Amino acid sequence: MISALPEETDAEHRALFAALVESLPEPAWLVDSASLRIATVNRAAERLLGLERASLLGRGARSLAATPEDLAFWDQVADGGDPRIHSDTLVLRADGLPVPVTRHVTPLADGTLRWLLVTLHDRSEQRRTEAERDTVIAELRATLESTADGILVTDLVGRIQAFNRRFAQLWGLPAELLQRRDDAAIHAWMTRSVEDPQGYAKRLAAIQEATLLHSRDRLRLHSGHVLERVTLPQWSNGRPTGRVYSFRDQSEKLAADQRIEALAHTDALTGVPNRHQLTHRLAYALALARRDGTPFALLHVDLDRFRQINDSFGSGIGDRVLIETSERVLRCLREVDMLARIGGDSFVVLIHHADARGAETTARRVLEVMAQPFTFEDTPFTVTCSIGIALYPGDAMSADALLRHAEAAMRGAKEGSRGGFRFHQPRVEVDLRSRMRLDHAMRQALAQKHFRVHYQPQIDLQSGQIIGTEALLRWRDAELGEVPPAEFIPVAEESGFIVAIGEWVLDRAVRQAADWLAQGWRMPVSVNVSALQFRQPAFVDGVAAVLAAHGLPAELLELELTESILLRDADGALQRVQALAERGVRLAIDDFGTGYSSLGYLKRLPISRLKIDRSFVAGLPADASDAGIVRAVMQLAQALRLRVVAEGVETPAQRQFLRDVGCDEYQGFLYAAALDSSAFEQRLVPQLAERLQ
Ligand code: C2E
Ligand code: MG
Ligand code: MG
Repeated sequence: MISALPEETDAEHRALFAALVESLPEPAWLVDSASLRIATVNRAAERLLGLERASLLGRGARSLAATPEDLAFWDQVADGGDPRIHSDTLVLRADGLPVPVTRHVTPLADGTLRWLLVTLHDRSEQRRTEAERDTVIAELRATLESTADGILVTDLVGRIQAFNRRFAQLWGLPAELLQRRDDAAIHAWMTRSVEDPQGYAKRLAAIQEATLLHSRDRLRLHSGHVLERVTLPQWSNGRPTGRVYSFRDQSEKLAADQRIEALAHTDALTGVPNRHQLTHRLAYALALARRDGTPFALLHVDLDRFRQINDSFGSGIGDRVLIETSERVLRCLREVDMLARIGGDSFVVLIHHADARGAETTARRVLEVMAQPFTFEDTPFTVTCSIGIALYPGDAMSADALLRHAEAAMRGAKEGSRGGFRFHQPRVEVDLRSRMRLDHAMRQALAQKHFRVHYQPQIDLQSGQIIGTEALLRWRDAELGEVPPAEFIPVAEESGFIVAIGEWVLDRAVRQAADWLAQGWRMPVSVNVSALQFRQPAFVDGVAAVLAAHGLPAELLELELTESILLRDADGALQRVQALAERGVRLAIDDFGTGYSSLGYLKRLPISRLKIDRSFVAGLPADASDAGIVRAVMQLAQALRLRVVAEGVETPAQRQFLRDVGCDEYQGFLYAAALDSSAFEQRLVPQLAERLQ
């Protein structure tokens, strides 16, 4: 366009070019290509260089060059070289400060005149922003480096934008790979490093797809390290622009956690799981068994007489026995089974997929390895164990119940012969069921008059005469047959029904004695009183009312109370006993010797007889301790002036012994068991006839 200008004078041309240069928005000047001096300059250039137009016009273009490159350029132009250049350079301002510029030099030809147009683009602003950006980046880098986490920043498609050294270190990235900055190679390296490359790749793809996802997960590397990965979206101007991944090495923390976990779950001495762990495993086994219907077994293994080992060899040896026991038992188990130590010398074995046969096989194997002698410090000794077995689902459905059953069965094994095993016997549950049945049947028996009272004669040891009788309750159930009082009385005591039964027996016995009296037989009758019955507030009045109703003199009734009844609520019992005695009712202490009544207490009681429990009579006369007890009771009774009745006399030798030590009376099968009233009367008649003779 410039070259198309019509030929004019130099001066006119210069003025025209000056106007054109002036109109350019950026700093610019024209250099005469022959003299290489500035011919015209615009205001923007004046401002940039800080120089007046006057001082610039006619000045050598070279004098404004601030870099060796520019000096060389102008020298080369002076030598007739290419006058074109386009590059970033510096120009010197008047105050000596270099200004960064992009500089264009373009030759313009116009007839004879040749011009070089120099235009500048001031890059100060751009340089400032660039410098600022560099600072920010440097700061960012420093921040990245200063975190303990490995950081990786990518854009939305996964191109790597930045990472820190910790990142490279955690992933073990080789320096060569980092220098190459080959994103694909770095990603491939990471994928190869994890234990589950497929899972990793899938997860990474999912993360990248969900731009806004915040997530936290764990990666296991082949190196054994475990990295926690947190990923967050990176935001810029309110838009997600990429993703920041931070990686933290969790290996040490995990190892520490595992150690703590292991400690909390293992028995410190033997290293096998403890009760805590057993509970967990048992819950798991139950869940599995419920789902799949597979049975399993629990063995409670308890060492026999472990205390003796501790006492005679010291607890050091005791500890070694426990350790070796756990090793021996472990040898009998499969990999999937479990041994736990749940207390001093108690172990529990959990056997998966085992029924009674499987449990028994394992139990026998354990007994076998335990039968091998232990040798510590050259002293061989044998430690046996007892095993109780509970089975799921046969014995119980809950962990607690299974553990309880196995332990109870172990106790059963100990009671039998130590060094054996025993299966759980569902006694408790059956008991409970039969208790309820018994209670129900008892109530019906009373209503339907199925109870009877029998009378056991009491014999004077000197004269051999029947001097009294004990009323004993009898019950024959249509289904259950003859039910002994020892079985149903405790059930009746528990349910409270004993009160009704007791009143009935009392009424029957008093009526019987009154009948006999009416026939001319003064036959004192003894009635057993249970604890609950005795504690009834109306008990004393009730007894008096029964006596009055049948017209029996109070001294023909004796109440049998046990020591425990008298000891419980001793003051209340004393008052009641005194009230009865005041009315003339006699009192006997039943089953004497089995309780703990003190001489002092007995002295305060208005009692007339002691009944020596039959358990002390059984061993007479041979058993020295039974004989000693009976003698002691005799001395006590003599001191307190009480008569003594021996119960359960079955042999003439027992009777002889009792007679020799001064016992007054006895009752027992030797003379007669409890008899119904007519049988009793038949035994009585000859005696009365004898007396009459
Ligand atoms: P107890 O009061 O000590 O009664 C004595 C028990 O010994 C009776 O058992 C009797 O049958 C039994 N006996 C008597 N002679 C011999 C013998 O020579 N050898 C052996 N081995 N046993 C003998 P029974 O009738 O089975 O009564 C057991 C317990 O039940 C009684 O012990 C008593 O505590 C209670 N009992 C019985 N009837 C009643 C009752 O009407 N009311 C209350 N509250 N308890 C009763
Ligand atoms: Mg009795
Ligand atoms: Mg008794």
